[in-house]
Amino acid sequence: MASSPTHDPSTSLHAGTSLSSTSKTPAPPTDNAAPLNPASPTLAERARGAIYGVCCCDALGAPVMTDFTADKTKHKPITLAENYRPVTLFNAPPGSFTDDGSMTLALATSFIADNGKYSRSTVIENFKAWYFDGKYSSLDYAFDIGGSTSTAMRTWGERVDASDQTQEKVDEALNIERCSGNGSLMRCVPVGLVMHTRPLKEAQRVAREQSDLTHPYSRCADACSLYTALVVGVMKGKSKQELFDFISDFDISDRCLRKNIAKYTTIASWATNYPGLNHYGYCGGEVATTLETALFGFFTTDNFADGALKVVNSGGDTDTAGAVYGGLAGAFYGYDAIPDHWVKGLQRSDLIKDVASKLGKLAEM
Ligand SMILES: [Mg+2]
Repeated sequence: MASSPTHDPSTSLHAGTSLSSTSKTPAPPTDNAAPLNPASPTLAERARGAIYGVCCCDALGAPVMTDFTADKTKHKPITLAENYRPVTLFNAPPGSFTDDGSMTLALATSFIADNGKYSRSTVIENFKAWYFDGKYSSLDYAFDIGGSTSTAMRTWGERVDASDQTQEKVDEALNIERCSGNGSLMRCVPVGLVMHTRPLKEAQRVAREQSDLTHPYSRCADACSLYTALVVGVMKGKSKQELFDFISDFDISDRCLRKNIAKYTTIASWATNYPGLNHYGYCGGEVATTLETALFGFFTTDNFADGALKVVNSGGDTDTAGAVYGGLAGAFYGYDAIPDHWVKGLQRSDLIKDVASKLGKLAEM
């Protein structure tokens, strides 16, 4: 099972906020930005922005995902002016979100069904409805399913209840380092959106618990815990500098994740020290490089679209790095900051609108 960080970050996140200007107009992109929070969206707008952010960036990144050895010169970068590309790998139309968006919607819907409470049994039922029946998918069936998620869902699916014994079976199969994929991080933004008024430790515990359902290795849970703390900080109106300082002080248990994050000593260092600058496809399916790539997009730009394009044009597991970026950045900048044609071009727009709206109401409770 996942270990817990010894550091208690709740005090630092509950410290004073520092909001700056209220403009929602994206400023020109910059590679050396150290921006403060440029907007003051409502809590509902932050939650809606996060859900749409996940789905939009998943749909942007899915058509251009590559492997570690991809040749950058063979890939035409996505631009702000163009519409979504088709996801040819899965024969899916433009605007199709994949497992990242689907599992995010499934987790969000569990919070909605249980009036803001985390219920393991509801989450499992929703994940099963996606995996076996295609609910929450942009197609009629689930697709782009990771290996750990598939193993876990078959384990949960074979049993009629959400028991501790089933979790033990999942742990036996997947609580190993080589199963440190990004499949639980990609979906976990609803935890911070809904639980931002509760003690941070409680939100982080839930982040780890939802990770354990499919990705019980501690690195995955650590990443979900850190990411959730950042989302909570965003919901409290923290600036990027405050979020960066929080990461710097965060006691990351996992050696690999700690090493990946430790090389960034200032916000500006994200623009120079990110290994993907010299390695197209640096972000694989592993959770540490995925979180790192999402934060690279977040800390080196000052508006939603520029960060999204940086992440999905970096190669590798672009749909998931995009989804992780999109959840955090969508909450930070708010729904109105997401380009209209990205919002309107999504498949299953009624489903996303409904979930985002209801989650927005929960975020304000
Ligand atoms: Mg995906």
